[in-house]
Amino acid sequence: MANFVYKLNGKVTKPGDVTDVNLRKSFDQLKAKISNALGPLQCSEHELEPIIFLESDGSGTRLGGFTSCCEASATEAKKRLEKVTELAGAEFTVRTMVRPKG
Ligand SMILES: [Zn+2]
Repeated sequence: MANFVYKLNGKVTKPGDVTDVNLRKSFDQLKAKISNALGPLQCSEHELEPIIFLESDGSGTRLGGFTSCCEASATEAKKRLEKVTELAGAEFTVRTMVRPKG
């Protein structure tokens, strides 16, 4: 499973620290949807999974972007994310950080 990071008002926040119950629910639901769409996704070359950033400014949550190890992994993740209806056409940032093997 991919790694998820919650960001509230631009600050990385632990899920347990999201005190607003509805907001917490919104984060968790978006995470579940994205998690289902991605499925097991480990890059065969780098053996890494993407880091997904979920953001909120206090009302509602959105996919802020994700970081992948490499272009191939990012392309695959993006393809799968596009199957999530509410993300279709959404703007999010994709970053890659190619790491040397081994
Ligand atoms: Zn990779």
